[in-house]
Amino acid sequence: MTSDLRDGGPVPGGDWDRAVGLVSSAGEIALACHISPDADALGSMLAVGMALRAAGRRVTASFGERRFRVPRLLRFLPGQDLLAEPGDYPPTPELMITFDVPLIDRLGTLAANAGKARELIVLDHHASNTGFGTLNLVDPGAAATAVLAEELIRRLGLPIDRDVAICLYAGLVTDTGSFRHSSTTPQAHLMAARMLDTGLNPEQIARELWDRSPFAYLRVLGAVLDRVTLEPETGPGLVWTFVTRADRAGYGLPYDEVEGMIDVIRRTDEADVAVILKEDDDGAWQVSTRSKGAVNVARVCAELGGGGHAKAAGFTSHLPVEETMARLRALL
Ligand code: AMP
Ligand code: MN
Ligand code: MN
Repeated sequence: MTSDLRDGGPVPGGDWDRAVGLVSSAGEIALACHISPDADALGSMLAVGMALRAAGRRVTASFGERRFRVPRLLRFLPGQDLLAEPGDYPPTPELMITFDVPLIDRLGTLAANAGKARELIVLDHHASNTGFGTLNLVDPGAAATAVLAEELIRRLGLPIDRDVAICLYAGLVTDTGSFRHSSTTPQAHLMAARMLDTGLNPEQIARELWDRSPFAYLRVLGAVLDRVTLEPETGPGLVWTFVTRADRAGYGLPYDEVEGMIDVIRRTDEADVAVILKEDDDGAWQVSTRSKGAVNVARVCAELGGGGHAKAAGFTSHLPVEETMARLRALL
């Protein structure tokens, strides 16, 4: 493999060396990923956790959610026995590492632990990362945080077995949209090749991530599509819909199951921007936005208290659907 296809992004070599030093000398290593974890956040964290544990290191991993629960979609990821309830997390970690977390708030209740950590390594690929760590390994050019997690494991001299690779591959394949997004670089495919080389089954991972759901999903999707609205005159074209708690309750569908619905909405040719408002079990609206490139939705969502990437971002709203949409329209 040529070195230019292998080399990471703008994270200086010296920073990697410091990270390796910190990890190598720590007695206990506390790992955390963002709340409402996706495959990149949870997968990267579990991959590093498993690699460290196999090397005999003491590791805790968690995410700071009041209702601590791994989404059904991600329960196939190996290494979940590493997970601890946020209440059992070290209150003042000697060394803490965060995964896929662009700002400290996205750690939920573990933000307090991060604030008291002696050393805090931030491993992330969000351009908006605020650099809240004592050491920030942030590469906006990386297709996924999993790319940086692989680099860390490699630099620690630890092996990547099939279980570690499943977690890293899940992050890579999700954040590249199954190798469809612009983040699909030669490096991303080379990493996929290294992961497949461990013997993982990409068909099985794809089925777990995208190709299964309870029958109730189809019913709720039907209702959500029934009320989808196209506004070709709003900004560069907007298509949007919403899914309520009542929609889900009617069919007994858990909140995590509606995460993928944005991928149906965003295919609309007539709209650059797609939006879905998802009412969670606490009655808050988790808003997912996607753009085909005309609008930087990360900037729009940041205005509304959220964040993300230029073409995929989100925010939380406590306003009624129409008020949230009015604020969003004004920014488009
Ligand atoms: P999602 O629409 O949930 O798939 O999220 C897309 C992107 O937006 C991810 O990079 C998330 O990190 C980011 N994001 C989603 N919700 C929020 C939020 N409430 N606050 C900040 N960033 C968010
Ligand atoms: Mn994420
Ligand atoms: Mn990510």
